[in-house]
Amino acid sequence: HAAQRQQYVNTHPQSQQLALQTQAHWLFGVPLHWMNDWSTPFPLFMQSAQGLTLTDVDGNEYVDFCLGDTGAMFGHSPNAVAAALATQAQQGLSSMLPTADVAAVGNMLSERFGLPVWQAAMSATDANRFALRWARAITGRSKLLVFNGCYHGTVDDVFVDLIDGVPQQRDSLLGQVYALTEHTEVIEFNDLAALEAVLQTETIACLLAEPVMTNVGMVLPQPDYWQQAQALCQRYGTLLILDETHTISTGLGGYATQHGLQADMLVLGKPLGGGMPCAVYGMSADIAARAQQAKEQAPAGHSGIGTTLTANALAFAAMRANLEQVMTPAAYAHMLPLAEQLAEGLRSLFAQHGVHWCVTQVGARVEFQFAATPPQNGTEARAIMLHELEQTIHLYCLNHGVLITPFHNMLLLSPATTAADVARLLAVLDGCLQELLG
Ligand code: PLP
Repeated sequence: HAAQRQQYVNTHPQSQQLALQTQAHWLFGVPLHWMNDWSTPFPLFMQSAQGLTLTDVDGNEYVDFCLGDTGAMFGHSPNAVAAALATQAQQGLSSMLPTADVAAVGNMLSERFGLPVWQAAMSATDANRFALRWARAITGRSKLLVFNGCYHGTVDDVFVDLIDGVPQQRDSLLGQVYALTEHTEVIEFNDLAALEAVLQTETIACLLAEPVMTNVGMVLPQPDYWQQAQALCQRYGTLLILDETHTISTGLGGYATQHGLQADMLVLGKPLGGGMPCAVYGMSADIAARAQQAKEQAPAGHSGIGTTLTANALAFAAMRANLEQVMTPAAYAHMLPLAEQLAEGLRSLFAQHGVHWCVTQVGARVEFQFAATPPQNGTEARAIMLHELEQTIHLYCLNHGVLITPFHNMLLLSPATTAADVARLLAVLDGCLQELLG
């Protein structure tokens, strides 16, 4: 690891120079402190991002399998999105009034994701916050239910863990002043008995969940889990909110569409605007009617839902171009078989090196985890995380021109990814394992 750090220092003089300059005026030297999570001695400053290629300020190029942690899942700066943004920029950026793109985007979202009524937000974090508010307003219940190991953005109420079976507020949270466990219940994923036990209390407004957990490493649902979980939610009057921000990788229309699930609400963030900050959340007709009723019955005043730049003209121009021309059936038809190829390639690479690491896949999202069998819930997934090993692998890959998401071993494919890029990644990982294992 020390040698890899030195190699990074040697090959990134301009980034190092910029890091010295930004230290004084940005907390931790970066505008978002997570930008330091890349296991590098100082941040990597970017020059450009096009398709699958990132170029840093030193002229080093990278094949990108992180893709902005899904924000650029359909490739960096797709031509159609860039062109739509350029046109819209001439016609006005933001006016707090809808543009004609709103009609087209609404049609496409409904058709593709199976829910008839939508609202916009600036980020998936915001979309989740707003969906939770609607759920509480609609049901008149105050409590939320989430899965251990979940992440839905920086939404205060969902930062709860199960440690030795006991719900606890995540201890890394800064500035948290009220007790989250009073508002939020937390259970393990893939445990229908635990789900039914908590739903029986009839105090839970909604279950907010990713259909496949992706933020504690990947955890797949057991066969039939979601059909049964959905039926339980319906039986006890708890709304099911599926956050498909990451599982949009599953296929056209996301996981719910591909697997015949009917969520009450659906949250879609990150990749929708091709890299522009925007998100949406959808509702069934019944939930939309109840939301309308809740709004009409509430006293006049601020609902606590929305932000000024939400649904700005640029975001909608980007979403329209992206949905129409980039997130197409053809794009998925390219990505999904390539992801299979990558998953198979990883399995045989690990077998060759005699390491017992499992490979999990949800459509265009592939991940390897440091255990022979895939985890079934958040506790199991946390137990197999080896952060130091992860960081060593990621830094080695970066020094060899390949980027992996910094948070875990997640590899995302885009329409711009080719079989040659997959082969390159596998070759770099092969070299890494040779160095690690001798
Ligand atoms: N939902 C899920 C499932 C996520 O993984 C994330 C971020 O990683 C979010 C929501 C929040 O997205 P954002 O940071 O763009 O608000």
